[in-house]
Amino acid sequence: MTELQFREIINRSLGSHVNFRNRWDKYTFDSSQFVEQSKVESILSSLEERLNNNYPFFHPSYAGQMIKPPHPIAIAAYLMAMQINPNNHALDGGPATAKMEIEVVKEIAEMFGYSEHLGHLTSSGTIANLEALWVARSIHPTKLIAFSSDAHYTHKRMCEVIQASSRVINYDNLELLENELQKGTIGTLVVTIGTTGTGSVEPLHHILPLAKKYGVRVHADCAYGGFFMLLAKDENPIVSPEPFLSLKDCDSIVIDPHKHGLQPYGCGCVLFKDIGVGKFYKHDSPYTYFTSNELHLGEISLECSRAGASAAALWATLQAFPLQSNNGLGTILTKTRQAALKWSEMVSSSSSLLELEKPDLDIVIYLPKTNPFSASVVSQITEKIFSATMNQHKLPVYLATYAVDSASIAKCHPTFIQDSPTTKVLRSVLMKPEHEQFVPELFKNISAIAKTMI
Ligand SMILES: *Cc1c(COP(=O)(O)O)cnc(C)c1O
Repeated sequence: MTELQFREIINRSLGSHVNFRNRWDKYTFDSSQFVEQSKVESILSSLEERLNNNYPFFHPSYAGQMIKPPHPIAIAAYLMAMQINPNNHALDGGPATAKMEIEVVKEIAEMFGYSEHLGHLTSSGTIANLEALWVARSIHPTKLIAFSSDAHYTHKRMCEVIQASSRVINYDNLELLENELQKGTIGTLVVTIGTTGTGSVEPLHHILPLAKKYGVRVHADCAYGGFFMLLAKDENPIVSPEPFLSLKDCDSIVIDPHKHGLQPYGCGCVLFKDIGVGKFYKHDSPYTYFTSNELHLGEISLECSRAGASAAALWATLQAFPLQSNNGLGTILTKTRQAALKWSEMVSSSSSLLELEKPDLDIVIYLPKTNPFSASVVSQITEKIFSATMNQHKLPVYLATYAVDSASIAKCHPTFIQDSPTTKVLRSVLMKPEHEQFVPELFKNISAIAKTMI
């Protein structure tokens, strides 16, 4: 979208609010709320200066964390709705945006293959997961909630909040997993579809049948990877489809539209397969109320106030970028996935960098081929590459570092010297469609720097 187009749609959003206000009687803004124009200008100038203290999240040279700006349509829609400031806690607080929320949540549930669902937007993935774990604990009050060591760190914390016992479990060995499930102490498994660290997709399609066999609940944390579902249904999918196609059989799913859904922060989503879990939200209405079109979102949500503007932004974005694979959002995810595949290919033929594992989604993990090839030296050189690429004058490149178990490196590279239990490696999140075009240039830049340091 051009700068001019963006200004036009922002003006359109502002204009819409003037029209909205003009439908009611005029009144004077109270003098207590008045601020001199020059003062506003000066405050905004200070803000602009302070905001310069940010990395260029928008730019394809930024491949550090999972951060990118929202789509201009989301910004315009959010601004348009935010001026009214509806609250999606209740239909009275925001009738229009509550309807939009119900529509977009239904679209997301259908994307995963849920034929019916109970669900809503949340202010984040953490809160959405909290809600799913809270329902899981209500169903299995005395049993454990288990997740792998690669699960998001907030699962353990949220188990503490809901006073559920939790433990770490390994999904690599299905026989051992079955032995654990057989014991009957585990009530819920959390399976991550796209880990935050490496974008790895856990083998849901193998875990799910075992969990079902032993009556164990499965919660899929797809906060990051959920929208890759769009690619899994392709004829020749560029992601492994099996785990995604199993999502429809999970008891609950979390996805973050504020990660891969082009949204500003404040937009997570939780979905339950069994609408009957509505009963845990202590409410006077009969159970059937929860499927009613008159549903009050606040009645089936842990949180109270939530920005109706978030629902408006997501609704508008999905009008432009529908949840389809060859159109809309799928086209963007195809490019980010292809960027990661390209990156992985370039690492595998590089003389200065090594791949740790093939990327499942669009996060890549790699390390410098140092001499000696040991945990301590790799960590040290990783840090040096990380700061050198970021501090270059010409084309700075922003990466992230990530600590992995040294043993996992030794498994793929037997000559690796494990002189420390963990090793810092390089991590790139290629979540912008522009990355696809930009990868060769980014990579050339990084590998040249790495060459001078190994
Ligand atoms: C980001 C993320 C979370 C936490 O979501 P927030 O929206 O940051 O609160 C949870 N799980 C996974 C897999 C994530 O990637």
